[in-house]
Amino acid sequence: MHTQPATQHQCRHNHGIGMLLVDIDNGKPQLDSRGNWQYYCLQEHHLFTVRPNEVEAAPAEDAQKVISLV
Ligand SMILES: [Zn+2]
Repeated sequence: MHTQPATQHQCRHNHGIGMLLVDIDNGKPQLDSRGNWQYYCLQEHHLFTVRPNEVEAAPAEDAQKVISLV
C-alpha cells in the first residue's frame, strides 16, 4: 500500500518548507533505500526524509481503504 506524499513538508530542523524529490523520468517520488520520501530543504539546502507511516492519516479514511480492499 502506498500513501501519496505531500509535495511539501516542514523541515525537521525548523527551516521552513522542503520540496518532495520526484523522479524526472516517471514522476514518482524518489525514495531512499528504506523507502522513505525525500525532501529538499529550500532554506538550508539539505535533504531530509519522511517515513510514509509518520504522516497522519485520518482514521475514517483508513477504515474506508480497508473496506475497499476486501
Ligand atoms: Zn532544513
